[in-house]
Amino acid sequence: MTDQAESESRRLLGRLRETLAEEGAGQERLDRITQLIASSMQTEVCSVYLFRDAETLELCATEGLRPEAVHQTRMRLGEGLVGRVARDGRVVNEADAPSARGFRFMPEIGEETFPSFCGIPIQRLGETLGVLVVQSRESRALSDDEVYALEVVAMVLAEMTELGAFVGEGEALRARHTLPAMFQGGIGQEGVAEGHVWLHEPRVVVTNPIADNPEVEKARLKEAVERLRVSVDDMLQSVRADGTEADQREVLETYRMFANSRSWLNRMEEDIAAGLSAEAAVEKEQSAARQRLSNVPDAYLRDRLHDLDDLSNRLLRILTGQGNDTGAEMPENPILVARNIGPAELLEFGRGRLKGIVLDQGSVASHATIVARAWAIPLIVHSGAVTEEALNGDHIMVDGDQGIVHLRPDDTVVTAFRDKIAMQAKAQARYAGLRELPAEAKCGSIVALHMNAGLIAELPSLESSGAEGVGLFRTELQFLARPNVPRRGELAAIYARVMDAAGDKPVVFRTLDIGSDKVLPYMKREDEPNPALGWRAIRVGLDKPGVMRMQLQALIRAANGRPLTVMFPFIAQFDEFKTARQQVLDEIARERKLGHVLPSDLKIGAMLETPSLGFAPRQFYEMADFISIGGNDLKQFFFAADRENERVRRRYDTLNVSYLTFIEQIVRRCAETGTPVSFCGEDAGRPIEAMCFAAMGLRTLSMRPASIGPVKHLLRRVNLDEAKSVIDRARGSGIQSVRADVMDWLRTEVA
Ligand code: PEP
Ligand code: MG
Repeated sequence: MTDQAESESRRLLGRLRETLAEEGAGQERLDRITQLIASSMQTEVCSVYLFRDAETLELCATEGLRPEAVHQTRMRLGEGLVGRVARDGRVVNEADAPSARGFRFMPEIGEETFPSFCGIPIQRLGETLGVLVVQSRESRALSDDEVYALEVVAMVLAEMTELGAFVGEGEALRARHTLPAMFQGGIGQEGVAEGHVWLHEPRVVVTNPIADNPEVEKARLKEAVERLRVSVDDMLQSVRADGTEADQREVLETYRMFANSRSWLNRMEEDIAAGLSAEAAVEKEQSAARQRLSNVPDAYLRDRLHDLDDLSNRLLRILTGQGNDTGAEMPENPILVARNIGPAELLEFGRGRLKGIVLDQGSVASHATIVARAWAIPLIVHSGAVTEEALNGDHIMVDGDQGIVHLRPDDTVVTAFRDKIAMQAKAQARYAGLRELPAEAKCGSIVALHMNAGLIAELPSLESSGAEGVGLFRTELQFLARPNVPRRGELAAIYARVMDAAGDKPVVFRTLDIGSDKVLPYMKREDEPNPALGWRAIRVGLDKPGVMRMQLQALIRAANGRPLTVMFPFIAQFDEFKTARQQVLDEIARERKLGHVLPSDLKIGAMLETPSLGFAPRQFYEMADFISIGGNDLKQFFFAADRENERVRRRYDTLNVSYLTFIEQIVRRCAETGTPVSFCGEDAGRPIEAMCFAAMGLRTLSMRPASIGPVKHLLRRVNLDEAKSVIDRARGSGIQSVRADVMDWLRTEVA
């Protein structure tokens, strides 16, 4: 940028600031700003369009076009040149607009005599809020310097819009973050909750986008970047010191590279020279990077840009002094809203504090999901951009059953939602009455209902839900939620507390199931083309037996003379089970030699999560003390449909004839060898599915504690023999899923 252009831009921003400081309603201010820009840029027209809703832009102020068109003229995203700028988030600079792609003639606003058009996206943190347009009679494209000056102005407009500086008549000028908004995401954990937003990383607010002394701002930026470098170096040091993993180091090395990048700093210094404050300059470059990010097809590069984004956030927090802790009080009934969150950070909140969780990203099988399940609070993943729209304290309703988030809901939504909550509460009260009763079907068959758990904090649910035991204790969380491998003594203490809490009720401990979606922070992550089909669970345990042996020792010591039940995840063939089982026996022998107390009873089982195990030799079934069907994985491998992929994960019905028949076959094979078999995937907690599994012969189901009531309620009202006949009839008719027939039958049966 030339010196002259720089001082022009600074002058314009200086006047802009004066205008913003003047008294007056939002509309007046915006009008003055458009006049100011038109006169400074020597163009006949300057207009500001802002989003009125996600799809529609509204002309909010203009100098040069017909004043009557203000708040009347609207266009859809992608429509005309303005719509194109908004959709693509990119500048359109045309000397001859009418012949440009996408031009749309709008006689009602009187722009016919202005052939030149330059539209600049008004963006904040990569989010497009509107479009700034200048047009002139002279047919010429603006110079790079002029476009840049307008980008700087657009940046300031974005900040002011965000701060509500223009709140006025038109709908688009309503204060931002005040309208109701609805988001559709994925279901991480079912349930409903009402509360107030608690942002994990509150947005940084920049109240001073324009600065008059560039030297002071450059010095502030320099100092902040220096502090950033030091903090990245410190992080690198500590990662090196504890010898942890290469990919964590790689990320930090990239951070360091960015933090030392001259071109990044140069661009921000240029923005400052043009009149922006240091923080506005950081935001401007962050916005530009985010814009690039959304267009990059390469995942690796996208990750790198994410790194830059993260680094910019850190820099903004240093500059503004706004940490994650803004001093705001956690609201009542907090619902955590975050772009993403790791299990350790989530666990810091402690059970019982959060009422729900909404993640812009996240995934169905992420660690956060495991925690939310453990806490039995609703979780929405892939919710879109809730973090951009929500403010701390906003009223929020989370419908985990449908994957819907209502932010600042209006009265109709509130009423409908509360009705739903009341109905669920009523149902819960009904279920509580069944707590002491068995899940005895009308035919006399009794189904044992156990609960799944992964934290000590969940054990009280054994009592309150009426579960007969813990059918699956996932042991990953103790490994995931810390930076290093836990020590044997720590684990033994945790497992002992789980057994203490369970009292006489049995607990099935599943050995570490990592890999695939569950990656330990300190374990080298292999770059695998298909992690779900890769080196995971028992495969890791057998290839690198150190951790598994340590875990087995911890379990034996925790049992300390009590019965112990151990289960291995993801066994795909007999040999794997034999070897894993032998390891338990070896550890028992070793403990005996060391003179430690041995478990009074030992059961070693396998999870059946791959179809192959359904066809394993009879000897496998004879050797296993029990089998538990891990339906979450089994189903994904049975149908070859990724359980994490929203596009396919619901494509195949659990009540599909082939799947049910396969489950039935497993149950039959277990019956032949007298091997106890249970089902512990999520489907066991869905009443209809649970009933069909029971009809297929399963007599033990393990599920989330909250599902025990609803499942028991249904089981007690049906005759499983009849259910089996309905399924058989439906199967015989050649249909794909028995669901419709089962539902029809249920409607008359339990009406
Ligand atoms: C399963 O796969 O069904 C299971 C219970 O294990 P996880 O969900 O932990 O993979
Ligand atoms: Mg599994």
